[in-house]
Amino acid sequence: MTDQTTPESTPIETDVVIVGAGPVGLFAIFELGMLKIRAHVVDSLEEVGGQCTALYPEKPIFDIPAHPRIEGAALIEKLEAQAAPFKPTYHLNQQVTGLVVRPDGGFDLTTSKGTQFRSKAVIIAAGGGAFGPNRPPLDHLAEYEGKSVFYMVKRREDFRDKRIVIAGGGDSAVDWAVSLPEVAEKVYVVHRRDKFRAAPDMVDRMQAWVDQGKLELVTPYQLSGLVGENGILSGVTVKDFDGGERTLEADVLLPFFGLAAKLGPIADWGFAVEKNTIVVDRTNCETAIPGLFAIGDVALYPGKLKLILQGFADAAAAAHKIHGIVYPDEPLHFEYSTTQGVPGN
Ligand code: FAD
Repeated sequence: MTDQTTPESTPIETDVVIVGAGPVGLFAIFELGMLKIRAHVVDSLEEVGGQCTALYPEKPIFDIPAHPRIEGAALIEKLEAQAAPFKPTYHLNQQVTGLVVRPDGGFDLTTSKGTQFRSKAVIIAAGGGAFGPNRPPLDHLAEYEGKSVFYMVKRREDFRDKRIVIAGGGDSAVDWAVSLPEVAEKVYVVHRRDKFRAAPDMVDRMQAWVDQGKLELVTPYQLSGLVGENGILSGVTVKDFDGGERTLEADVLLPFFGLAAKLGPIADWGFAVEKNTIVVDRTNCETAIPGLFAIGDVALYPGKLKLILQGFADAAAAAHKIHGIVYPDEPLHFEYSTTQGVPGN
């Protein structure tokens, strides 16, 4: 369930708040749910899935156990489905900005939208930090974002028969410059240099579209303005370095200038942070603050691998420790999922 309500001043009470809805945060919902622990999940992005959704939704992953090959977006769909029986509430498009340890050992959290939580434990599954795209400095950009300007491609089909301006010279720009001409009416690639920082065979494949007249390289140029009304684009203006200007007729602008991930406020919450990661106890992923856990890419312990499968194991270890916090008077009887079952299955 996604929270659609206006944030209230009364805090939402829950067992656990999970900061970050990447693959590891999503799997934590399942692990907690199996131990009858309720969770609310917050993410600064507008969609769940972390890096898998934001950076490589259509790329296959080959090292998820029992999935010889699965695309980033498909993995996230399956993790959401696996978590669904435990009815998590997702609070998207908002960053957790404040965390206070209460005298009783619980936590008060606040988000950039003013949502407040009171929980018995917190799991930080923040990966490399809250994601945000590097935005081009264009007037009225915000008016067009989400309508005609997008920082990621979720479904290529959404761009069928559109005139598209891709801006950037790295892997993402070139990957989409190779893929989108298959569905688009016309694709322009605007880059401030003539050379691209991408795999040579992809650059060759991009050039093949140029030869077929489906793609035009607009180099060395940079973005200078947006033309349109009410967020609907009709053109993109670009400038060269001698002051020359062109307007490209376009319905869509895709700026691919990279994503910046910042731990942001998490780094100031008073526990050991090393190189954008949080030091935890390897056995249960608890930080130096009792009840506060870190799992997945953000967690650091000897031998840590920044891999999804290791994040899944982190989630299981943390959930088992959290059981003792949520149910201090109930000993945990370990059960296999085959014995215990899952609601609705
Ligand atoms: P993330 O996926 O980074 O998700 C963290 C989430 O937390 C983000 O959505 C972020 O917005 C949110 N967040 C952070 N701070 C806050 C805050 N304060 N408030 C609210 N939300 C916050 N791994 C593999 O195992 N196999 C592979 O083949 C593989 N291929 C990869 C290919 C690429 C191109 C990349 C970039 C990575 C790849 N990885 C791969 C790495 C894998 O994606 C990461 O290990 C995994 O995403 C980590 O999951 P996570 O849930 O810990 O963090």
